[in-house]
Amino acid sequence: MANLAKNSERKAKIPELLVPANNLNTLKYAVEYGADAVYVGGEKFNLRILGKNFTIEELEEAVEYAHSRNVKVYFTLNSFIFDQELDELSEYLEKIRYIKFDGIIVSDFGVFELLKEKFPDAKVHISTQANVTNHIGVKFWEKAGASRVNIAREVKFEDLKSIIENSSIEIEIFVHGALCISYSGRCMLSKYMTGRDANRGECAHSCRWKYYLMEEKRPNLFFQIEQDKRGTYIYNSRDLCLLPKLDLLVDIGIDSFKIEGRNKTENYVSVTTWVYREALNAIMKGNFTPQKISYLMNELDKISHRDFTLGFMFLDDWRELCENDGVRYIRKYRFVGVYHSFSKEHDGPVIKVKNNFKVGDILDILQPYAYPKKFILKKLFLYEDKSEISCANPNDLVIISGLGRVNPFSIFRVKDD
Ligand code: SF4
Repeated sequence: MANLAKNSERKAKIPELLVPANNLNTLKYAVEYGADAVYVGGEKFNLRILGKNFTIEELEEAVEYAHSRNVKVYFTLNSFIFDQELDELSEYLEKIRYIKFDGIIVSDFGVFELLKEKFPDAKVHISTQANVTNHIGVKFWEKAGASRVNIAREVKFEDLKSIIENSSIEIEIFVHGALCISYSGRCMLSKYMTGRDANRGECAHSCRWKYYLMEEKRPNLFFQIEQDKRGTYIYNSRDLCLLPKLDLLVDIGIDSFKIEGRNKTENYVSVTTWVYREALNAIMKGNFTPQKISYLMNELDKISHRDFTLGFMFLDDWRELCENDGVRYIRKYRFVGVYHSFSKEHDGPVIKVKNNFKVGDILDILQPYAYPKKFILKKLFLYEDKSEISCANPNDLVIISGLGRVNPFSIFRVKDD
């Protein structure tokens, strides 16, 4: 009965939208575009140690910023730790002890135990790296004191339903982002081929590489494996996108929808947060129609991505996972800039340029809680000396003349030719 009650409570609510951030700037975009919670990492002990991460001071500032806007912050500590690192981890935990995180994400049993000792009141979330694939696994973590489990991406929808019906703690799933072709937390490909351990935040993405067939006695003779006319990418998984099934996932009572991508730009974070927030609003209002889904999928298409898949959860034939349109990202739009300030003189925003664009281009502008708008660029000025220019280059500050006021978190894109 307790489970049924829990499940009906879940059905009554819209899940939390949980968004990645790799620095303070991206975190602000996530918050402003509608995240309910963000997850961040420190400089060590998490799975994105090769990218930028938060210093202790930045973590403090991040929590202050997010909390002042009613957004939660989860701290990621999901690397697997060796004995010789335990003292260092212990010292690090002491240093961040005063920061009021809303949850701490772990995979390693030892880290879990250490946290219970150092932060007895902390809410501990179990990372997808722990590879929990059934409700008995969830119960195990519940008994140990966890408050949430991120279910492995390999779980099928029917099994996910059963997990939810038989679990009392919070259930989180990934709804969007890169997929591993290997079981979460079990991949040794990168470590084997490059020495870089995917389970300790150093993945070299060896699964995305191009492979040939070689017979052992003919070491320099490589046979092309022809998956299609472009070659092969048999391990190179498509990107997960569960947007078309989001209403089904709300119905079964998931507590948190997580977006992958802690190495991504403010463009990716803003667009994915905007799209999934819009989808959740539509579900809440009962108008998550096929037209709405198609509109939102077009918006997702404006960020670079691999072909999308419904992942292990909904596919009957898992071969689709690696049927990519080439090994590279699909990129239909260029992310050309972010808002910097406003020029009264030219009645338009000053933007910091990320990628080049020119007079005559149609700017596609995304703003929090508004539909994207288009603007044909007729006049462009350099901010520094106010000279008129025809082309903006990366790192320039330029004025978009005549656009009027836009939100300070606006993202500017241009369709690629
Ligand atoms: S090599 Fe590929 S499958 Fe393995 S962890 Fe890295 S991204 Fe995932």
